[in-house]
Amino acid sequence: MMSSNNNSFDVIIVGLGPVGSVLANLLGNYDLSILVLEKSKEIHPAPRAIHFDGEVMRVFQNAGLASKIRSIARSTHKGMHFVGRNNETLLVRKGFEGVGDQGWENNWYFFQPDLEKTLRAGLRRFSNITVRLGENVTHIKDSDSKISVSTQVDLSEEESCYEGTWMIGCDGARSIVGEKIPSGHDNLGLDEKWLVIDLKIREGSIRAAKLPDYTIQHCDPERPMTRCYISSLRRRWEIMILPGDNIESMGQTKFIWSLLEPWLSPEDADIERAQIYTFHSLIRKEWKNDHIVLAGDSAHQSPPFLGQGLCAGIRDASALAWRLGLILEKKVSEKTINSYVEERKSHVREFIDLAVKCGKTIKSGDPKLISKYFQEGTETPTNVFDFPKPQLGLGDWVKGVSPLGQISPQFLSKDGFLSDNYALYKFIMFQRHDLKRLFSRRHQKIIQNWGICIVKATMDVEKWLNLLGATAALIRPDRYLYGIASDFEEVGILLEHFECTMLEGEKNRRLH
Ligand SMILES: Cc1cc2nc3c(=O)[nH]c(=O)nc-3n(C[C@H](O)[C@H](O)[C@H](O)COP(=O)(O)OP(=O)(O)OC[C@H]3O[C@@H](n4cnc5c(N)ncnc54)[C@H](O)[C@@H]3O)c2cc1C
Repeated sequence: MMSSNNNSFDVIIVGLGPVGSVLANLLGNYDLSILVLEKSKEIHPAPRAIHFDGEVMRVFQNAGLASKIRSIARSTHKGMHFVGRNNETLLVRKGFEGVGDQGWENNWYFFQPDLEKTLRAGLRRFSNITVRLGENVTHIKDSDSKISVSTQVDLSEEESCYEGTWMIGCDGARSIVGEKIPSGHDNLGLDEKWLVIDLKIREGSIRAAKLPDYTIQHCDPERPMTRCYISSLRRRWEIMILPGDNIESMGQTKFIWSLLEPWLSPEDADIERAQIYTFHSLIRKEWKNDHIVLAGDSAHQSPPFLGQGLCAGIRDASALAWRLGLILEKKVSEKTINSYVEERKSHVREFIDLAVKCGKTIKSGDPKLISKYFQEGTETPTNVFDFPKPQLGLGDWVKGVSPLGQISPQFLSKDGFLSDNYALYKFIMFQRHDLKRLFSRRHQKIIQNWGICIVKATMDVEKWLNLLGATAALIRPDRYLYGIASDFEEVGILLEHFECTMLEGEKNRRLH
């Protein structure tokens, strides 16, 4: 493809926040010309996200960035504790000791500017990516064949113009790209103002060292609050603003220290920033109009109580990049973008819904609100829950019961090899037996055309296939499970089903 002459590109990404950066890092390996437009010259100094999960670490791995990101993030096996007014534990978001089913620790904490710096450094690997910082997108025009965009350069009178075949709006909650997709939002029922305070811990603070090394949600209707442990250097307090509060005074240093007084004083820490945010719970009704598509906060906004808003945006990027790559390589129908929207919309809803319920629990102290998510099993206390693992909405996978259309596990061998590394961000088919040479010509051609990496199952993979009653499993580049086959004949049917879905955009047929 690479249709770039000076100002014409295959894909224009608006916004180099974390979602735009991950999308560009994943797209860089395709034969495409990519332009990224970002209005700020510098990385935003005030962090918002502080947590990502094991699935997101797996996306970083598939983008070839895991070791770099691992060096700037802290993994933890501890969960999140919801406590009542007397510090009694009401419920727990489960932690996990060691490596989880995604091949990585389940929970990671980080300082957002470090993450963004690392993601941006990753873009330097690709000569087909052009990044323009300090260019604020002001006008977008969608004509029949191309999308034209104008930018204001460095807050000056200077204007630049570009053309793209596809435009992806990763430009956050106040998305200008979203304005080209007229639609309302579904509101999942939480709109609240919270004060977010980031603290840098002073060296030698004994009080800070004694604070818990995990997140605590204070479910106290009189002052709902979240306390987060980011690293030994940084902590965060999120404090709900109540109807009687004077918003003006809430950001003042004296008032902040009066709120923090039970735990820390100015001798223990410096306030890095204190800012009021309105937390929303919104999903746009439409994410796509012709060749304009949204990802991340431009498409959905979650309250941060689960630390999953950015994670959802990064899942969008991972679900979108392989489709865009294949569309622009003219291998699949453009209709494939419809399944990106359908799949992601219902998946993110499950997370936002749970985050809203967590928010209501923090406000009311009533853990029953999320009892639907409590884990079953004799050894698990009934007030423990975990992140959900929803099936994708209608889309590019074989219709059936879970784990079809769910995130697949990643396998770590004894010598430390992670199974996605067989073919990073490509299709992988695990097979119980090495059946490669038995494939018919037609099936060999499908495998070749779509770059499916056939891998003979190791013992761990075999155990998983046994559990599924399968001889083979086809996994997508974003690591969601496309389909399984119970015997060799069905492997052929699965491959044909896959090709048919990809070429014709015929979604979610059953295998038979
Ligand atoms: C207090 C708080 C805590 C949070 N904690 C977590 C957490 O722990 N874990 C988690 O997963 N999520 C968390 N979130 C949510 C998370 O921060 C967001 O989901 C995430 O930042 C969205 O990323 P994005 O790239 O989609 O958008 P943004 O981060 O908003 O990036 C958008 C980018 O687009 C650029 N842009 C905008 N308009 C234009 C334009 N016209 N032209 C060019 N560029 C433009 C902006 O400058 C920006 O760089 C939290 C949110 C808040 C408010």
